[in-house]
Amino acid sequence: MLIADKHVVSIHYTLKGEDGTTLDSSEGKAPLVYLHGTKNIIPGLENALTGKRTGDKIQVTIQPEDAYGPLDKSLIKILPHTAFDGLENVQPGMQFEAKGEDGQTQLITVQALEAQGVLIDGNHPMAGKVLNFDIFVEEVREASEEELSHGHAHEQGC
Ligand code: ZN
Repeated sequence: MLIADKHVVSIHYTLKGEDGTTLDSSEGKAPLVYLHGTKNIIPGLENALTGKRTGDKIQVTIQPEDAYGPLDKSLIKILPHTAFDGLENVQPGMQFEAKGEDGQTQLITVQALEAQGVLIDGNHPMAGKVLNFDIFVEEVREASEEELSHGHAHEQGC
C-alpha cells in the first residue's frame, strides 16, 4: 500500500543534524505512527514519504522552512531576573511554557544566566536546523473512520 492522505503510517527514523550528530531516533523504541496528510509531522517529512511503501528506506535532508522554521532572533532575548521571581533554581536548559504575542503557547528555553538578566530562547529547539532523516517504512494501512474524525492515529493512544 502506498503512503497517501488518510493512511496511517508507521516509521522508524534516525534524525541527524548537519554535523552528523544524532538528535533523535526511534531505534529500540516503538515506531512513530502518524496519520498522513494532517500535518501531524513536519511538512518536509510528509512530502518525502508520500508515495512510498512498506519496506522502503529513504534518506531525506529537510531545510528549516519545511521543518521547524527559521531561527527567529527576536525570540532570543534577555529578561530581567525579576521576570523569574517565585521560581527557584532557574538554570540553563530549563524550559517554560509561555503565551506568545498571538496567544499561542510557546516553549521558552533558558540559555544562560547573566548579570543583567536571564537569556532566553523562544524558538522551537529545532528551529533553523537542517535535518537529515534516515527512515524505514514499517507499515502503511488505511485509517479508521474514528482516526479520520479525530485527525490522528490511535496506535499510541487517543
Ligand atoms: Zn483519537
